Amino acid sequence: MSETIFMKIIRREIPARIVYEDDDVLAFHDIAPQAPVHVLIIPKTPIATLNELADAQAALVGKLVLTAARLARELGIDESGYRLVTNCNADGGQTVFHIHLHLLGGRPLDWPPG
Ligand code: AMP
Repeated sequence: MSETIFMKIIRREIPARIVYEDDDVLAFHDIAPQAPVHVLIIPKTPIATLNELADAQAALVGKLVLTAARLARELGIDESGYRLVTNCNADGGQTVFHIHLHLLGGRPLDWPPG
């Protein structure tokens, strides 16, 4: 699998507005925000899609979700509400093949999505 732009962000080879980092997880503002808050939460391990997740990565997935919930609190959208989205492959609208959670909030979000 060819490397994605997210690995370049992890290695600081291209800039990003990083809001959180630890040994396993990086979170940064989306370059094309779809809502007033639009943060991407990614594992530092490159996993192409949800389809490639292994059972052994269950704790990592949990950490991604918990990081998103904490960032929602820190960014002040926990009470107003937010959405966590992970797109998978073509019909899901995935364009970067390194799994990521989209944390979206700060305005009412349409449902169902188009
Ligand atoms: P997806 O379409 O679900 O794969 O989401 C990929 C997301 O990555 C999109 O929302 C893009 O706007 C975002 N994105 C692509 N390149 C960058 C970048 N250099 N910095 C921040 N976000 C990016």
